[in-house]
Formats: sequence, structure tokens, C-alpha cells
Amino acid sequence: MAAVDAVPAEGDLEHYLRLLGGCTCLDFVNSVDPRTGTRRRDFLHGYNDLITWAQLAGMLSPAAWKRLHELSEQHPQHAARVFRSTIALRELLYAIFGAIAAGEQPTSADLHTLQNTYLEALRHAELQVHDGGFVWGWPEGTDALERIGWLLTQAAIELLASPQIGRVKMCASAEGCGWLFLDTSKNGSRRWCSMEICGNRAKIRRLNARRRTTAATAESLPSQEPA
Ligand SMILES: [Zn+2]
Repeated sequence: MAAVDAVPAEGDLEHYLRLLGGCTCLDFVNSVDPRTGTRRRDFLHGYNDLITWAQLAGMLSPAAWKRLHELSEQHPQHAARVFRSTIALRELLYAIFGAIAAGEQPTSADLHTLQNTYLEALRHAELQVHDGGFVWGWPEGTDALERIGWLLTQAAIELLASPQIGRVKMCASAEGCGWLFLDTSKNGSRRWCSMEICGNRAKIRRLNARRRTTAATAESLPSQEPA
């Protein structure tokens, strides 16, 4: 796997973050920009970035962010280990959903790893009384450094097992983007992670190509000047 540049700098996440995947597990995959090509930048540099990303992605309340932040300061080595394993999960999800977006089968080894990651997460799930009912999983009050990874694993498993799995696509940008998204358009015609960025780039490229063709055709025509 090629190295990923560690820019933008820590703390820039809020400024750079674009959530276009339509599912937290795909947005997490897209925390490297672009996903393909040689100039890849990783938005996540450490545990603090991970929980900040999760908060911006709507997975953590500010109060839960604060608790996990404090916990990570008390247990920095554990937090660093959890960060590394969550990044490994991100790359696993990219391999699985990237294969699906390309119309291929993910490898059974990758699916097996995801299955085991989920089984491990379920060992920590709790059944809690909530609002007159019950919740199962890792609710807001679960102060475990691993919680983000558990939630992302669950989101990935749910997407894999849902009828929407056929709608997972990779951005069609020829410049190298590789972001994944869930196409929720009515007729399944979405091609770009973002019409404003990759869609526009493609439009400009098509226009330039057309201009070059027109110019080349004009040059090859016989001169219209009077003799
Ligand atoms: Zn794109």
C-alpha cells in the first residue's frame, strides 16, 4: 500500500471535512482524500482526530467527545492502539466496499476479518433501558475508546446486509478521487462524490477536449481565403 501524506495538519479537520458518502462507514473511508492516486492526504493523525471526525459526522455528542478525549489523555497508549486498529478497519472497509463498487466480490479473508471485528464489538454491547424502551449496542454513555470503531463496524455490516449494497459506487472522476458513496438518487444515476467538485472538473475536462477537437478540425480544413 502506498504511503499516505499526513496533511492537512491536525486541527484542520473541520475545515476540510466533506461528508458525501451517505453512510458513516463510507464517509470514514473517505477520510483520505483522494483515495486513489499519488497525492493522498489523510485527515486523521491520531485518536483526537478520530473522535473529532466522529463528532463532525454526527456519531458523538460534544459531551461524549469530551469524555473520550479525557479518557484518551489518561490512557494514551491504549488510545494510540485503538487509533491504529480503527485506521486498519478503515482500510479494510475501503477494500471491501471498493471491490463492491467495482462490481467485484470482496475477498473472503476481508469479510472474515470484518466478521471477527464485529463479533469482538458485540462482546462489549450492552442492553440498556432507554426512554421507556431498550437499546442494544454501545449507547451514548458507553465510554470505551473503541466505541467509534464498534459503531462503524456495525454500520458496515448493516450496509453489506441491506438491499442498498448495490448502490455503493466509486466516484467516476478520471483525475483520481476514489471516494465511495451510496447512490440514493431515484434512477441510480449519481456518478460523482460531489457534482460541485469532481462533477465540475469532469465537465471542464470535456469542454477543453471539445475545444481542442474543434481547433484541430479548423486547422485541418482548407484555407477559405480568396486566391
Ligand atoms: Zn470525487
